Amino acid sequence: MSNYDPKSLKAEEFINHEEILETLKYADENKHNRELIEQILEKARPRKTERGIECAGLSHREASVLLACDIPEMTEKMYSLAREIKEAFYGNRIVMFAPLYLSNYCVNKCVYCPYHYQNKHIPRKKLTQEEVAKEVIALQDMGHKRLAIEAGEDPVNNPLEYILECIKTIYSIKHKNGAIRRVNVNIAATTVENYRKLKEAGIGTYILFQETYHKESYERLHPAGPKHNYAYHTEAMDRAMEGGIDDVGLGVLFGLELYRYEFAGLLMHAEHLEAVHGVGPHTISVPRVKRADDIDPDVFDNGIDDDTFAKIIACIRIAVPYTGMIISTRENQSCRDKVLGLGISQISGGSRTSVGGYAGYEADERPHDTEQFDVSDQRSLDEVVKWLMDLGYIPSFCTACYREGRTGDRFMSLCKTGQIQNCCHPNALMTLKEYLEDYASPETKEVGERLIAKELLKIPNEKARKLATEYIENIHLGKRDFRF
Ligand code: SAM
Repeated sequence: MSNYDPKSLKAEEFINHEEILETLKYADENKHNRELIEQILEKARPRKTERGIECAGLSHREASVLLACDIPEMTEKMYSLAREIKEAFYGNRIVMFAPLYLSNYCVNKCVYCPYHYQNKHIPRKKLTQEEVAKEVIALQDMGHKRLAIEAGEDPVNNPLEYILECIKTIYSIKHKNGAIRRVNVNIAATTVENYRKLKEAGIGTYILFQETYHKESYERLHPAGPKHNYAYHTEAMDRAMEGGIDDVGLGVLFGLELYRYEFAGLLMHAEHLEAVHGVGPHTISVPRVKRADDIDPDVFDNGIDDDTFAKIIACIRIAVPYTGMIISTRENQSCRDKVLGLGISQISGGSRTSVGGYAGYEADERPHDTEQFDVSDQRSLDEVVKWLMDLGYIPSFCTACYREGRTGDRFMSLCKTGQIQNCCHPNALMTLKEYLEDYASPETKEVGERLIAKELLKIPNEKARKLATEYIENIHLGKRDFRF
């Protein structure tokens, strides 16, 4: 008998090893059960209700059957359903962000990360507030409005006070028409009190990758340092929510453990947050292990190919329809192209994964000394924006929900009531217009203006359409920061 309990606050009860093994067994037994698979797909299909479009989502067991199924015709059905769900809730918008590395000092020994404390040959660097300001100005000059700050774990060199000071600096910089309007935070698991302080500092999402849900592997992959504690790490999101942060971002580092194990664990984590806090994760990230300074990704046995990666993304989209999905520049252009339509809602662009990698470097110049991992998509933000628009997507620099207090379940209800077309769609177009006016190359601007004219017509509510058109004219005249 397993002691699986999604409502428990103990890591090993809400991410329960026996339940995952049972799930994998059930998925294997049913992976060719067409009738069941059709039923699962039917359950997940978007439905019109009097409140708007709704999706039921799937349990970790149901979704694991889909992931295990290797019937090509069924995989095609999954892809088409994933596209349908993405279109229903996220339309063709893709939110843009960039990482900002603050410090690579770290007291952990994660075996896949070059920042582990035993790596003596990489220079250790921590940005001063002047350097943070320079990085922010460089990011604003590219056109970014949303950052994810990253740091190693080191209570002496990067205590929470340092992170809070950096957040304050980031929000304070107003350079030309630039502003960072949302700072997401990816730092090590911490205390309720510290999460409360992060909330007070005005952060957007608190992101923490689980790396692996497999406890034994987790302990082997994190042999020393505070991160070694599986329960403390796995229960971090509960502490974050207790501290008042209601947008949290999950993720696993694919390649470390069997992907089907991780997938079931990830969905159980989402179910746990929903069961205990009434709201699931705001985002899920899907990083894969990459080559880095003293790290060779081939030493990990569980690497996944692009097709498996695409299927994981489609199955996550189907299982947790309201959760945003993030892909970083760890993936190259062609892989990003393949998975965008299957459910990704946020991507990074023009990223540097080194400490101090933005300011003072030319667009085609990148420092490697403190890089956390090799960046596969090395295009500039302008190139990524134009590429997205050529593919029919709207690159969005929107941060409105968080600034209007639409976080946690309030964001989810906006999603569910289908108000996205009247709210997120115009917000995306207005922030894209700002980007085109202030930062785009002439070619990108030309493509963008045509796209905005076409997309404005798709706003269903006449009043919202008129207002958005008016705001966009005002942006052309020099005004900024409109939002619904
Ligand atoms: N130090 C914090 C922590 O431990 O959660 C912050 C996160 S770290 C800067 C961001 C993430 O990068 C890690 O959670 C890990 O998943 C990922 N990462 C580390 N090494 C990597 C590698 N070689 N390839 C790809 N991603 C990697």
